[in-house]
Amino acid sequence: MQSTTLLIIGGGPGGYVAAIRAGQLGIPTILVEGGQLGGTCLNVGCIPSKALIHAAEEFDKLRSYAGDSGLGISVDKPSIDIARTVAWKDGIVKRLTSGVEALLKKNGVQVLRGWARIIDGKTVEVDAAGKDGKPLRIGCEHLLLATGSQEIELPGLPFGETVLSSTQALAPASLPASLAVVGAGYIGLELGMAYSKLGVKVSIVEAQERILPAYDAALSKPVQARLDSLGVSVHVKHRVLGMKDGGGALRLEDSGGKEIELPAEQVLVAVGRRPRTDGYGLESLMLDMEGRAVRVDDRCRTSMRNVWAIGDLTGEPMLAHRAMAQGHMVAELISGAPRRFVPMAIPAVCFTDPEIVVAGLTPEAAARRGDDILQATFPFTANGRAMTLESTDGFVRVVARKDNHLILGWQAVGRGVSELSTAFSQSLEMGACLEDVAGTIHAHPTLGEAVQEAALRALGQALHA
Ligand code: FAD
Ligand code: NAD
Repeated sequence: MQSTTLLIIGGGPGGYVAAIRAGQLGIPTILVEGGQLGGTCLNVGCIPSKALIHAAEEFDKLRSYAGDSGLGISVDKPSIDIARTVAWKDGIVKRLTSGVEALLKKNGVQVLRGWARIIDGKTVEVDAAGKDGKPLRIGCEHLLLATGSQEIELPGLPFGETVLSSTQALAPASLPASLAVVGAGYIGLELGMAYSKLGVKVSIVEAQERILPAYDAALSKPVQARLDSLGVSVHVKHRVLGMKDGGGALRLEDSGGKEIELPAEQVLVAVGRRPRTDGYGLESLMLDMEGRAVRVDDRCRTSMRNVWAIGDLTGEPMLAHRAMAQGHMVAELISGAPRRFVPMAIPAVCFTDPEIVVAGLTPEAAARRGDDILQATFPFTANGRAMTLESTDGFVRVVARKDNHLILGWQAVGRGVSELSTAFSQSLEMGACLEDVAGTIHAHPTLGEAVQEAALRALGQALHA
């Protein structure tokens, strides 16, 4: 039996960041990973999806130049070798996961490859990690659970060759002629749009009354418009019944009970993810739960002393940057530093076309809280940089308190707005007021000028609209 101060189960962004920070702080740390270092995010999530989205965008751009391009550019008929695209994507994943391995080593973290099983709050067994491939027992003072989440499967549509999870959709051996996507959330829209741009006939089914039901309607409208221009058919308020006998189509039912069939050589099911709580003895700790997630307090402490949990395992929002921030904090807490997880904002970015960013409170959320607010929107139609990028659909919106102009939230939709999330989060964390942003010189010509203009407009001083 080996012993350590900190034992981390799971080497995703939550677990590996906690391990690196713990190593920096001199805490003896063992990280156990049964799959691949980097977890969902680096291997089958954030990074591979953004790589595929980029490749699809480039291909779509070339195809648009092959038609009538207002830019005066013309190209011959472009083609794509999807196997090479996937190999390029895999190369990025490999570079990043090797980098994580090197950082863990550099910071003195011992990495054990194998699946961990919890014996009790201070003991874990790792399969095949001991001598001669035998299980290895490790005792620890602190146990950090960072086991992430897994895809939700729909009854009647089990994952297989025809029905794909996001993991399978990120590594196509070849492209299907048609793809039906179930779920118009993050994954369904990001990957559905990418497949459409790669030339696949895509249709999307959503149970709720509109796409991206978690975002406000003004933000999802430009995305719906782009889906229309791509020729993606969207079926909201529809229920999936299953595959047609013999395959080739997905059977749906609308809210009136009418059945239709969508042509679908393949189906991507993207109806959410659930915390990974089964199969490794977690239940033996009898931790307090919140639904399917492990309940934690504002220090990521579970209901058992010195057992911590972070990331997707602790529920929504299931985002890599939240997992990383929690992991960083837990390592510092174990080192004795006073820390709490009380961010002003956890920005959310949807990498659709156009992209959507939400940081802090929306007008509705602020109103629900009872805040008396100002809000202002600046459209990209009035932004020079957006015009030069041929992408004027979208806007930046700011929400602030009426009395002292403290900024409460930002929302944006438009091409490239994911990069504005940094400015949004910084202004919220630093407690900026409208006057701070309005009085900051923003470089010209940039999309960021729309951020300044939104603040100016909220103050009744817009210059360019
Ligand atoms: P994970 O990354 O899931 O890592 C958990 C790790 O624990 C895994 O490596 C697993 O193998 C390991 N593990 C589990 N059980 C055991 C055990 N018993 N023993 C040993 N090891 C174990 N988020 C964003 O912020 N931005 C995005 O753009 C984004 N895009 C995404 C795209 C897709 C297609 C998907 C699926 C997700 C995306 N996410 C995105 C979400 C993001 O990937 C997760 O929020 C993030 O990976 C969660 O980190 P984590 O450390 O909690 O868990
Ligand atoms: P999601 O929660 O974003 O969307 C799921 C969608 O499926 C919802 O719109 C829901 O109404 C719909 N739905 C549920 N059951 C259905 C059914 N039976 N039929 C039709 N529609 C149904 O979930 P996701 O897209 O699977 O993504 C999972 C998680 O991964 C996200 O919540 C997010 O935390 C993370 N993620 C983040 C990013 C990003 O940050 N850009 C990208 C991808 C994934």
